[in-house]
Amino acid sequence: MSSLPNCPQCNSEYTYEDGSLLICPECAHEWTLESETDNIEDTKVVKDANGNVLNDGDAVTIIKDLKVKGSSSVLKIGTKVKSIRLVDGDHDIDCKIDGFGAMKLKSEFVKKI
Ligand SMILES: [Zn+2]
Repeated sequence: MSSLPNCPQCNSEYTYEDGSLLICPECAHEWTLESETDNIEDTKVVKDANGNVLNDGDAVTIIKDLKVKGSSSVLKIGTKVKSIRLVDGDHDIDCKIDGFGAMKLKSEFVKKI
């Protein structure tokens, strides 16, 4: 059993657990461990079609002809995309493509170069 963190208020080491609450018997401070994890950066992993992990700045190629929303153009299979940026959402890649401009892609339709 790992030891509980000290009280953030008075630094007492006699904290105890009550359900999901942590309680300090010395100053009666109550808190939850979950509120501490709020500060931890979201480490969502985005993977390409082959399961390789993608990072900001990676270059990828498109593995499937993709229709461009709001236009009649098609992103052809094999199109190179430089310097992708990972974002949250259904389309998790933000990028700029020569001749197309700013674009959002789904990671499942790209392959890391
Ligand atoms: Zn305390």
